[in-house]
Amino acid sequence: MNLFQDLKQAFEKGMEQVGNQSQRMIELTRLNGKLKGKKESIQEMYNKLGQLVYDEWEKKQQVEVTGEVHQTLEMIQDLKKQIVQLEEKIDQLKHQNTGSSLAQKLPSSDLFANTGSPQMNPKMSVPVAILYLCPFCAHQVKEDDHVCSNCQVRFY
Ligand SMILES: [Zn+2]
Repeated sequence: MNLFQDLKQAFEKGMEQVGNQSQRMIELTRLNGKLKGKKESIQEMYNKLGQLVYDEWEKKQQVEVTGEVHQTLEMIQDLKKQIVQLEEKIDQLKHQNTGSSLAQKLPSSDLFANTGSPQMNPKMSVPVAILYLCPFCAHQVKEDDHVCSNCQVRFY
């Protein structure tokens, strides 16, 4: 999907802007965005499935699993598998929460060293396990936000 490629590029730009910001947090933000996208795709598939089944029933007063219905069922199953994999990855990242594993993941040990921004202060970021960043302007947003409070761009 193009949306994801655009988001990926925006995240890569965002990574340049935030400099030494933890790559793990960027990755978490990216995975969470992907997860939301997949969940929304499943909802669309459910809608489509409902429509297909209803149309079939309206014509024949009974429902057969036609090719298109079957295809949609398989797409939902596939999406669910992808969601499980994403959730496992996110879980792994979330539990790599100690300073040592963070340092192992990063090529340099001077995490936070070159950042002048107060929100990069490690003391302040301790209670916040995950930092969600707007993919367009790298402004910090809340987990459930769909619109950036800084640049007003809608994202997932
Ligand atoms: Zn923004």
